[in-house]
Amino acid sequence: MKKAYTSKNIIQQVYGKVILLAFFSHILFTIIFAMQEIMPLFIYNIGSCILYIGIYILTLQKRFRTAVLLTHLEICLFVSFSCLYAGWRCGFALYLLALSSLVYFCPFTRKYIPYLFSGTEMILFLVLKILSMRIQPIHTFSSQAVNSFYIFNALASFTLILYAAVVTKLSAVMTEEVLKRSNNRLQDLVDHDALTKVWSRRHLTAVFQSTVAANKPVSIVLTDIDNFKKINDTYGHDCGDYVLSELGQILKDASPDDTGICRWGGEEFVLLFPNENPDAVIPMVEKIRKTIAAYPFKYEKQPLQITMTFGISNSTEAKDLKELIRIADKRMYLGKKMGKNTVISANMKLPAE
Ligand code: GH3
Ligand code: MG
Ligand code: MG
Repeated sequence: MKKAYTSKNIIQQVYGKVILLAFFSHILFTIIFAMQEIMPLFIYNIGSCILYIGIYILTLQKRFRTAVLLTHLEICLFVSFSCLYAGWRCGFALYLLALSSLVYFCPFTRKYIPYLFSGTEMILFLVLKILSMRIQPIHTFSSQAVNSFYIFNALASFTLILYAAVVTKLSAVMTEEVLKRSNNRLQDLVDHDALTKVWSRRHLTAVFQSTVAANKPVSIVLTDIDNFKKINDTYGHDCGDYVLSELGQILKDASPDDTGICRWGGEEFVLLFPNENPDAVIPMVEKIRKTIAAYPFKYEKQPLQITMTFGISNSTEAKDLKELIRIADKRMYLGKKMGKNTVISANMKLPAE
């Protein structure tokens, strides 16, 4: 179902159908009472048909409160009039029970109003029952006509109740679906960096923890853009942002599918390689480094040469993410000192180690 399930369009749908059902029922009653030559009920039903056309127009204009109020009033009036005229046994009072089941769909901001409707309809039901025990109906129908009225009124009332139940169920399912989708969207926002579209620090930390908890070895790569300050200073901050967002995509394209790519902060990225053999990561990172160095960055027709320096650590050296990043950072710093645009791994002895 493509249409958004807002409470307003549920009200429009439910009451739209109720109004149509009431309209066609009144047409049928108009014909029946015309054939039976019962003028008061015939005239009343013609008036009701006209009123329902007006109420339907009100719903199209989204004037739901007036439409709902008029519908409830009309049904109460119709039931009272028909009960007193044709007798309790014709089953017109059943509409009051059906009407009460529509309380949920009332478009009123004050919560007690729907219950006021329902309570009034219950009291009216009881009053009509008591009155019918004390006074005779104005018109006496044959028992066959009474039974036919009763069956029709019962069917119409059940249809109304069932319809309301189906829509209630449907709206609950749709609400759950809408909530799920908005939850997923929020989760996506939390898990990804807005500029580069790679993982957020929070998401990488969660993936790292679950990988280590499953006793799977990983390699951590910390990488930082070389001379990025100069890019910002020379071409502006927007150009720096362009480079960062391109890098997000390049890192994704150049890494194996199971690599976790995260913007750690500023112009630093962290890559997480699930790996049995730490040495196997080095050529993969080398490939990424070369891809970046060869990539034709262009900002406002200005070609840019971008390089990055990489430091690698792996889970045989530490189990804690902070510690692994500290080791990778030391190696990356060494790479910066050695002239940048390079990959430094555990095989290379660090001066401080
Ligand atoms: P090095 O090669 O040693 O890494 O030098 P560098 O100039 O890249 O390093 P430095 O840490 O001095 O500068 C990093 C710059 O990155 C400073 C900061 O303005 C910039 N930066 C951090 N985050 C963003 C961002 O989101 N957008 C832009 N445009 N620049 C950013
Ligand atoms: Mg930096
Ligand atoms: Mg830098």
